[in-house]
Amino acid sequence: MLITTRYKKNIHDLNDYQFKVLKPSTNKKLGKKVLKGSFKDYKFYTLTLVERETCPKDCFHWEDCFGNNMPFAHRMSNKDELLLTTRIHNDIKELKGKKALLRLHILGDFFNVQYVWFWDLMLTLYPNIAIYGYTANSTSSKYETSRNIAQAILSLRIKHKKRFSVDTVTI
Ligand code: SF4
Repeated sequence: MLITTRYKKNIHDLNDYQFKVLKPSTNKKLGKKVLKGSFKDYKFYTLTLVERETCPKDCFHWEDCFGNNMPFAHRMSNKDELLLTTRIHNDIKELKGKKALLRLHILGDFFNVQYVWFWDLMLTLYPNIAIYGYTANSTSSKYETSRNIAQAILSLRIKHKKRFSVDTVTI
């Protein structure tokens, strides 16, 4: 059973990573910014973590994860959590108040409850950002960690409403 990405060479240790960790969208379907709705004109940014290493083990797509077909995606390592969150925070500061809609995550997932609270702090400190995405963590998971993460995600949805639109799954 795989426990990380198939493309280990594309896991980036953030001590040596000279680029931003939040990437402006280059996805043709998604486009560069939101064209309508509450977040019209927000620019899309994405964050990619390491698939499987950061994901709940009962993810339905564990074996056929999208990451299997993404050899070139840069995966940000979460081995040093403080470094990861510091780098993300720096990138958010560099937006300098510009409106940004962050996609969490292209690959990978919320890997612990503290990391969910980190996003709570970012949303509180930076009213110019909003977040959307999906998580494979679930309140009905057999894994306690996954249930706790999903519960924390649900509380952020209540607290930040549309600004934290992350869907959980039901197993
Ligand atoms: S949560 Fe997403 S990234 Fe992680 S294993 Fe499942 S499909 Fe892949």
